[in-house]
Amino acid sequence: MLFIVATPIGNLEDITLRALRVLREADLIIAEDTRHTGLLLKHFEIPHKPMISLYKEVEIDKINDILASAKELKVVLVSDAGTPLISDPGYKLVREALTQNLPIESVPGPNAAITALTLSGLPPDKFLFLGYPPEKESHTRQVLEKYQNLNATIIFYVSPHKLLRFLGLLKEDREIVIARELTKIHQEIWRGKPSEALVKFSKPQGEFVVLWNAKLS
Ligand code: SAM
Repeated sequence: MLFIVATPIGNLEDITLRALRVLREADLIIAEDTRHTGLLLKHFEIPHKPMISLYKEVEIDKINDILASAKELKVVLVSDAGTPLISDPGYKLVREALTQNLPIESVPGPNAAITALTLSGLPPDKFLFLGYPPEKESHTRQVLEKYQNLNATIIFYVSPHKLLRFLGLLKEDREIVIARELTKIHQEIWRGKPSEALVKFSKPQGEFVVLWNAKLS
């Protein structure tokens, strides 16, 4: 059996009872960064488990070994934070598990996009999660143009070292919401124009979700 287990995005109290039980019962944990997950287990006094690290570059190579284990054992997939697969590894593993008719369970929990959406004050009824903007600036421009008239809240994950470049590509015709360090001590939900955001976050630190495009009423 393969379990997909969400873990906290900052505040460790956000782990679910089910996540703790499944992690405690796991025979093998598939983690992005095994040291990071080791600390999580330690915090919750879960005995150390055999672990395999899974990140984008090695996902394909490790799938068959992981699924062979999952036929015999309880295998748990976690990422460093939040819900696995969501801008994190695991999609190819899940696809192949389905192809091989292997049972999968999801243990839902924290996710930065949904947490940001609920705090943003932007319409939550229709939203589009676009993950990280493309590497190339020209591709990001194309994406922004493509969705600029969509009647929905658009959610991006933006890493701190790319935040200013990304904000610089947004038009001034609407407000954006920036959710920073969600569930952590320095959590901040900021609303304003892109040019104001450039001033406010001139030295970006922490983790950011940028929400865009919804018409504010
Ligand atoms: N799988 C995770 C989830 O379910 O949200 C996302 C992992 S992705 C590699 C990391 C990105 O998620 C960060 O660059 C940031 O955009 C966003 N993120 C994760 N934790 C966050 C937090 N506590 N506050 C704001 N954004 C966060």
